[in-house]
Amino acid sequence: MPTLSPPAKPAVVPDLRGRFGPYGGRFVPETLMFALEELTQAYAEASQDPAFQAEFRRILNEYVGRPSRLYFAERLTKEAGGARIYLKREDLNHTGAHKINNAIGQGLLTKRMKKKRVIAETGAGQHGVASATAAALFDLPCRVYMGSEDIRRQELNVFKMRAMGTEVFPVESGSKTLRDAVNEAMREWMASVETTHYIIGSAIGPHPFPMMVRDFQAVIGQETKEQSVEQFGRLPDVVVACVGGGSNAAGMFYPFVNDTGVELVGVEAGGRTNVYGEHAATISNGKPGVLHGSFSYVLQDDDGQTAPVHSISAGLDYPGVGPEHSYWKDNGRVRYTSINDAEAMEGFRVSSRLEGILPALETAHAVVETMRIAAKRPKTDVVVLCFSGRGDKDCAEVARLEAGLPASH
Ligand SMILES: *Cc1c(COP(=O)(O)O)cnc(C)c1O
Repeated sequence: MPTLSPPAKPAVVPDLRGRFGPYGGRFVPETLMFALEELTQAYAEASQDPAFQAEFRRILNEYVGRPSRLYFAERLTKEAGGARIYLKREDLNHTGAHKINNAIGQGLLTKRMKKKRVIAETGAGQHGVASATAAALFDLPCRVYMGSEDIRRQELNVFKMRAMGTEVFPVESGSKTLRDAVNEAMREWMASVETTHYIIGSAIGPHPFPMMVRDFQAVIGQETKEQSVEQFGRLPDVVVACVGGGSNAAGMFYPFVNDTGVELVGVEAGGRTNVYGEHAATISNGKPGVLHGSFSYVLQDDDGQTAPVHSISAGLDYPGVGPEHSYWKDNGRVRYTSINDAEAMEGFRVSSRLEGILPALETAHAVVETMRIAAKRPKTDVVVLCFSGRGDKDCAEVARLEAGLPASH
């Protein structure tokens, strides 16, 4: 038998310009270049500083409640009838999702850079709540930009942010949703960059955000690797995560990138149909372009206008995706697929009924794909699902949809 040469290690990305292959970079006005340089420098130092890393880990453990459990889902496994399914329980974190990991990391960095306040954008309010939480913890004034449409639809999250001392700033431009909130937050950052840090909520935006957010979320994948070895003596065969901007998936996948025996699967929002404007499956249906400061796959029309998007889950309802996912798509390291609204509703039901665990509607997309993969694999295989968040926030929406009422977004 001829011996195979070991596969070439993937290149270290991003490079110094923040490029993941052709993707990423900085497509921003000149006024922001200095701030992004300063941030890159500060983050490079912090990431090499054991004291910073130890403090980050201490807060994740003591405040967020990490490490999150890697839980064997016996009834989902039985229902799928194949490979064993494990859930990486990010829903058990304080505030109920993975977003807090990144908000804590960027909050600590804000302190280190001696900035006096933070701003953030939010769609459904999950990242707004995570940022408000970190701001309260670190005693930083916080303003969250939120489309006025979203403010109307997400009363509870707006209340939570205000209760924690955050100012919720209504954005009236465009579609009055997430995309417009990002634009407004970037504009405001330009004017206040000397005193203010902008906490971006996903692995998107100009360099160094995609790398930094991935690194803060990589605790998910690192813990999963250690827990896999402890609990079943090896790495999983497949790892599945949902992809909106791509932060929970990037954090889960990144530590596995060089473990080429582990299949990585990203699940996008298939929406109502595959027709332009009715879904948010950016990698599956988009093409490369510039959105929110970085070059990546974008849902757009033939003239390059960003597409309207729809998903049952507000956290996946975004026309862009982080540049590292575009890179992984092109080099084939991650397989991307999509699950539609109706299927995700079924994922919500099956996880709730069989495990007593209500998933966020974002997570529900990945539940469905995980069940399909497990069904096709032998009982000796293991599939790990990144259980990005809990479903409490979506109960009212699920009830509306089950009653036959139109989606609220
Ligand atoms: C925001 C959110 C997502 C999508 O964001 P990513 O950056 O793609 O991870 C997924 N799941 C939950 C629970 C969320 O709150």
